[in-house]
Amino acid sequence: MKDNSNFDESVKTLKKTIPLMMKYSVPVNPTNYALWYTYASNEVPNLNRELESALKLYNTCPTFRAEQLYSKHVKNEAVDQARNLQQSIDKMMGKVGDSIGNTQNNAKSFEKEMSLCHEELAVLDAIETPMTPEAVSGFVSELLSKSMAMRDNAKSLGDSLEKAQQEIKSLRMELANSQQDALYDALTGLLNRRAFEQELDGLIELPNAHACLIIADIDHFKAFNDEHGHTMGDQVLKAVGKRLAISCSNGALAFRYGGEEFAVLIPNSTIAKAHDMAEKIRLSIERLIIKDRKTGETVANITCSFGVAAILKDRDAIDSINLADERLYNAKQQGRNQVVSTA
Ligand code: GH3
Ligand code: MG
Ligand code: MG
Repeated sequence: MKDNSNFDESVKTLKKTIPLMMKYSVPVNPTNYALWYTYASNEVPNLNRELESALKLYNTCPTFRAEQLYSKHVKNEAVDQARNLQQSIDKMMGKVGDSIGNTQNNAKSFEKEMSLCHEELAVLDAIETPMTPEAVSGFVSELLSKSMAMRDNAKSLGDSLEKAQQEIKSLRMELANSQQDALYDALTGLLNRRAFEQELDGLIELPNAHACLIIADIDHFKAFNDEHGHTMGDQVLKAVGKRLAISCSNGALAFRYGGEEFAVLIPNSTIAKAHDMAEKIRLSIERLIIKDRKTGETVANITCSFGVAAILKDRDAIDSINLADERLYNAKQQGRNQVVSTA
């Protein structure tokens, strides 16, 4: 959950959180509260996108989905990082606290000095001895040096606060990046295999819903790498990932499943609809034009083979994956660049 340093901002987010939870009839428990608070804060765009697609699908956010979204976007890997972050903030706050303490102690001793000077002046006054110019100058220069020390101390407190703020900012950025890393593939920007497994488990548990799975594998990619180099191969992976991502709508999600393999999960789909979607993706990849940046020449036609399967209810996730994999294998055997969605 976002640690809003700005109090007014937190209150605003809080005011939005509860009505949203009421609207979608979600139970008020710590997980839901943290999830919806983060949603209302608009801090994690991917959470908002996935939560909204769950709302579209179920008109609420079922508990299993809320727990997934919570561990994916709110708690996540970030627990450790959050603990580290907390420790670093505590440490910094300790330092700032010391500075404040020092300043306060200095202020106290300054006050003491002042009152000593004042008493001394009063005594001098009482015995009606006129103060010599040297004595006055002595008092003044002593007060001056004390107030200079106070000023230096206030400056060092200001510097520590500024440094602490900068460190908090960079720790926050680190935290956001590590959350991102845990579920996204760095090369293509697609969700990774770990995210795929979580999402697939969620779909299997969905009551009365039919979901489908597409597994896609780039054809002869080893030969492509051998001929054009790994860097060029990476460009192809990125381009294929992009095609998959833009083909996803209505809650479908694209993943980089492994090396040159991709997956798409489609909630609320028939095998025929999933087949059509795979066919559209196949065509859009076939039409990709990959050019050598140096020569400007088109280097090769990229194609993919596809295996499509319905997600099997009350079965292990691996059973659905194996089914799609078998069909992918058949697509390869039958000549590649095609979609197979039947046994
Ligand atoms: P098939 O049509 O049967 O799928 O043949 P293939 O050559 O695509 O399959 P194979 O499994 O033999 O080779 C996969 C290749 O994918 C080998 C590996 O170097 C390449 N690859 C995997 N991950 C990456 C990556 O991140 N970047 C690049 N450039 N290549 C990768
Ligand atoms: Mg492969
Ligand atoms: Mg391949």
